[in-house]
Amino acid sequence: GRGVAMVTAVAARLAAHRRILEETLAPFQLTLEQMTVVQAQMREAMIRGLQGEASSLRMLPTYVRATPDGSERGDFLALDLGGTNFRVLLVRVAEGSVQIINQVYSIPECRAQGSGQKLFDHIVDCIVDFQKRQGLSGQSLPLGFTFSFPCKQLGLDQGILLNWTKGFNASGCEGQDVVYLLREAIRRRQAVELNVVAIVNDTVGTMMSCGYDDPRCEMGLIVGTGTNACYMEELRNVASVPGDSGLMCINMEWGAFGDDGSLGTLSTRFDTSVDQASINPGKQRFEKMISGMYLGEIVRHILLHLTNLGVLFRGQKTQCLQARDIFKTKFLSEIESDSLALRQVRAILEDLGLTLTSDDALMVLEVCQAVSRRAAQLCGAGVAAVVEKIRENRGLQELTVSVGVDGTLYKLHPHFSKLVSATVRKLAPQCTVTFLQSEDGSDKGAALVTAVACRLTQMAHV
Ligand code: BGC
Ligand code: MG
Repeated sequence: GRGVAMVTAVAARLAAHRRILEETLAPFQLTLEQMTVVQAQMREAMIRGLQGEASSLRMLPTYVRATPDGSERGDFLALDLGGTNFRVLLVRVAEGSVQIINQVYSIPECRAQGSGQKLFDHIVDCIVDFQKRQGLSGQSLPLGFTFSFPCKQLGLDQGILLNWTKGFNASGCEGQDVVYLLREAIRRRQAVELNVVAIVNDTVGTMMSCGYDDPRCEMGLIVGTGTNACYMEELRNVASVPGDSGLMCINMEWGAFGDDGSLGTLSTRFDTSVDQASINPGKQRFEKMISGMYLGEIVRHILLHLTNLGVLFRGQKTQCLQARDIFKTKFLSEIESDSLALRQVRAILEDLGLTLTSDDALMVLEVCQAVSRRAAQLCGAGVAAVVEKIRENRGLQELTVSVGVDGTLYKLHPHFSKLVSATVRKLAPQCTVTFLQSEDGSDKGAALVTAVACRLTQMAHV
């Protein structure tokens, strides 16, 4: 009778919804072949970048030639700009131990996207505050600056900002030497002396930090607000730096991979929407498929699409889904956490102002899984390209290597790290790769780079 007809209608509607969900998520499900293509394209882009040919990978020399040897000593200041927080740190490197005191400061959006001069003045204000709190005023400790943006380095203490990424867009900085901008702000402030020794990308800091404990660590990886990697390359392969023997750490700036259109076939309409709404459209396309600043936005765009098709939230256009950045990385990680029952997933979403059925909750979970899974697999394909390159550089049949990793998404997401490893195992079977989560972040590494430089020039304050 009618009851049966209604049940059948409901079942048919659910089946239709499911079909639409599956169609929507299908482009996020990468085949092994697609991942292999990404790996191969990455590999080619690396080689072109190293040779100075047109490439979406800049492959920037860092002037870091060795990982720490353990003999470094002294007290150092470190700055960390470009991740989730801005931090100022005191790093004490002693025999067999590294002690760190740090203070988190905020960089309000108006500073990140306002005048560059004001941004650097703010940074110096934070350093001065830190020095006062720690009783360090008047001492000019060597300073290592973790600056997590693409810089063309001409030496350890010189880095020309090529372009801002992530949420930063301060004026008057691109094309300028960031160490000079910092020194100028110090000069404006007067009465402070700071000795800026090194500018270090966060990937490099992370590699160095893990390299302090594990000499096999020859790659650094960040999957946080943004994403990037560095690794030790043979100097003879680096066209822009003279010299034929030894190694140099290369900052790949892999977030920009695909900015020449090579990721075109993988990019979905949702990736396009996220890119177009960002402050740097067309730029950092790989990063926008992988890192914490963007995954939540991809999810939000998919949910909007499914709502418009009447598949989610009974088709009710909820105000809250229109709000940019409402889905945080943390939130994606929470939803996918195995320990949370769907009921709790619902509670999290209701907190955002969404009313949902248990079917909705399940679909949202599936959307999150598809997006983070693709991110981890793309990241894994990148790592596979790098470790394979290191292996071939050395003419080895098998390579054992460690990768130092940092970043909120990698560390907090319940499945991300496992998926990266699994992908690397599949794509680079001749490499045994150990991932080391850096405990003190990249700042310890920046201090160590500074320490190595000071050891070589004997200016450490021990
Ligand atoms: C920057 C890189 C940085 C990465 C991770 C990217 O947006 O371009 O320099 O290493 O984010 O913080
Ligand atoms: Mg960081």
